[in-house]
Amino acid sequence: MQSAFIRRIDILNHGQALVWDRSLRSREHTMESAYSGRVVLITGAAAGIGKATAQAFAAQGARLILADIDTINGEETVAGIREQGGDVMFCQCDVADAAQVRSMLEMIERDYGRLDCAFNNAGVEFEQDKLADGDETVFDRIMDINVKGVWQCMRFEIPLMLKSGGGAIVNTASIAALGAAPKMSIYAASKHAVLGLTRSAAVEYGRKGVRINAVCPAVIDTDMFRRAVEAEPRKADSVAALHPIGRIGRAEEVAAAVLYLCSDAASFTTGIALPVDGGSTCI
Ligand code: NAD
Repeated sequence: MQSAFIRRIDILNHGQALVWDRSLRSREHTMESAYSGRVVLITGAAAGIGKATAQAFAAQGARLILADIDTINGEETVAGIREQGGDVMFCQCDVADAAQVRSMLEMIERDYGRLDCAFNNAGVEFEQDKLADGDETVFDRIMDINVKGVWQCMRFEIPLMLKSGGGAIVNTASIAALGAAPKMSIYAASKHAVLGLTRSAAVEYGRKGVRINAVCPAVIDTDMFRRAVEAEPRKADSVAALHPIGRIGRAEEVAAAVLYLCSDAASFTTGIALPVDGGSTCI
């Protein structure tokens, strides 16, 4: 037979469980509807981190515009999200091309009337040499996409956000923005520049209601990582050890950080460079 004391603990626990259950359910409900009806643009959305972030936003009710140069995988991503009932469209767009970015943002204004969040994520890495062996064409293309692309997108996104009272932007930098990246010096320089753009714009538009942050992923299991391993197979064995968590990251883990930074829960957070890195910048 239960003592009065144990019964009381049970009642208390049950009560507590109910409170937790209710608060969890209401939190789930808030999360589900956190982005409902919000218009979200994602670049580099046909694969990897961009695709995972698109799926995460779609699961929370966002209206999505997915941009990429890769139409085949972009349309496939769109089809997958639509199958789950998502509101999504694909826009072929090279972020390095001002005319294409401008017309994409004009289309968003015309068809959606607003832009609430933007994830400027398209980026490339193709570089495998030490600095002195570098090539000018490679330098220009990396800078065009990783730096000018982010600048180009923000240049047209911010005015549209301002028209509806504000918004949130997240740019994809890298842990290469926080230190050295041997045999990827141009890439590292491009990601340092992304932080320069992010922080400066965050200060410029802070009072106008546009928050601008960056994520700095360490090694994430996407095509970009797989290409690096193909070029240098020895990397595959050593790379997990660079992360105190003991493994490389998943695209969904970067997506979760992006959704947080875009959410109202991050309303006092702007201009930050958030490492999503399994602790690798601690060592
Ligand atoms: P990914 O190669 O899997 O996907 C990148 C996507 O960007 C592709 O769909 C590609 O078609 C698109 N893209 C490339 N150039 C474009 C352009 N000019 N205009 C529009 N779209 C373009 O790579 P990922 O790993 O998902 O990388 C996404 C971002 O994360 C990049 O900015 C990358 O630098 C950054 N990042 C990746 C890692 C990693 O380990 N994977 C780590 C740190 C940062």
